[in-house]
Amino acid sequence: MAGANILTWLSVCRAPLLFMAFIISCTNDQNQSVPFQVLIEDVTLIDGTGSDRKTVDVRIVGSRVDAIGDLSPDDDEIIDGTGLVLSPGFIDTHSHHDRGLFESPEALVLLSQGVTTIIVGQDGGSTLPIRSLKEEFLGTPTSVNLGSFVGHGTIRSEVMGVDYLKEATPDEIAAMGELLSQELRSGALGFSTGLEYDPGIYSTTSEVVSLARIAAEHGKRYSSHMRSEDRNLFDAIEETISIARAAGIPVHISHIKLAMKSLWGRASEVLLLLNQAREEGLEVTADLYPYEYWQSTMTVLFPGRNFTREAAAFALQELAPPEGILIDRYEPNRSYEGLTLAEIADLRKSDPVTTYLDLIAESQAARKAGGGGGESIIGTSMATQDISTLLKWPYTNVASDGSSTSRHPRGYGSFPKIFRTYVRERGDLSLEEAVHKMTGLASETLGLKARGTLEVGSIADMVLFDPEKITDKATRQDPRAQSSGVIGVWVAGARVYDNGLFTGVYPGQWIEE
Ligand SMILES: [Zn+2]
Repeated sequence: MAGANILTWLSVCRAPLLFMAFIISCTNDQNQSVPFQVLIEDVTLIDGTGSDRKTVDVRIVGSRVDAIGDLSPDDDEIIDGTGLVLSPGFIDTHSHHDRGLFESPEALVLLSQGVTTIIVGQDGGSTLPIRSLKEEFLGTPTSVNLGSFVGHGTIRSEVMGVDYLKEATPDEIAAMGELLSQELRSGALGFSTGLEYDPGIYSTTSEVVSLARIAAEHGKRYSSHMRSEDRNLFDAIEETISIARAAGIPVHISHIKLAMKSLWGRASEVLLLLNQAREEGLEVTADLYPYEYWQSTMTVLFPGRNFTREAAAFALQELAPPEGILIDRYEPNRSYEGLTLAEIADLRKSDPVTTYLDLIAESQAARKAGGGGGESIIGTSMATQDISTLLKWPYTNVASDGSSTSRHPRGYGSFPKIFRTYVRERGDLSLEEAVHKMTGLASETLGLKARGTLEVGSIADMVLFDPEKITDKATRQDPRAQSSGVIGVWVAGARVYDNGLFTGVYPGQWIEE
């Protein structure tokens, strides 16, 4: 741990703006410096385990929680915690916030939500090799901690190249396995798939099982954006459970949802399957973001990649209506960005089905012609009641699936929105349950050793917030509005966020266990 502490101090010392205490620490000999002390008095501690809150004083010395109890000031910086909650920093188990992270290493978008750790490399896509991400992170430290999974799609593309529209051969699977092992050894937390996306969609279950077995041998985990979240949802859940069983690995369902009108109200049936799997001894968990709309590609609504009028009509009828599809990114025609499919159909004097198919065809043509075909949509497909039912499952933790660069507000508001909507407005979760789902449970699900709870000796990743005021502000109209109600955030004992502002230090650590 000494190494990690030195790393923290070095990161802090590199920062352009510094607290006086850190200047003293940095200019003194590391071993002789007096560690910086903070005493948060009379605060409501919610420790992340799910246990009841208690009012205590909490002292931080250096990077760790030094004492919890009825404490007397002793040369500390004093913070009055009256009426505020202190909890472990929130852990985003499924994040795309690596996009833009090194350009904005202060990560205010995360700090303003109380997030201190993000886990990327999800949905089958990761930086290859992971080592290069780690090196970039260590070279450009950020305010938050970072860890990554290895993406199945990434290693599948590396091995199969453009010839991926097929089942992989045994040799190709073996080559993917080698690459996966190498990545897991160099510091990845687990293996992720995106079975609804190219190229993962062309893999068989047995290909995924072969690779998940390798992850299991390394003692790692498997997280999946499943093969379907709508038409074939129940088959996809069965497939995921079967992978857990065959590979002997903990499986985590990413952003669990029922994204089809005719499935609404059936969340308890999903949970029945997951509970049966758990009773069988399989470690099955899930994460969720608290919005009725997702973000993905235009083609994701066509699992057979059959771009027919019939399939498009079904998608717009059952999966997401034309007025509920917002174009986030459309490289062939940037003027469509921010408009709904219904609005674009009007502009083109066409109907939504034709327009949707034409937009896909135009994007694919642009891509074939050498790029510029990128696209991304936000689709309204979920029911609040299902989100509530899934969220209340004891094995569902909170994640954002978000980034700072998209038009989906989840990147800016997922964590505070849980407090606003599902704690205060709906009463679905107690404060303790909500915090547990953002901290201790998230950490357990990832297999992290040293994060997610606050006790004496814990690494001081912490968030101090007003439980009555913490709220998301981001909407589809204003997706980048900063959340409010978070008073302070600490990462490894260094205060990174103070009432809406970044403090100028970058203590984030690379997380690989
Ligand atoms: Zn996903």
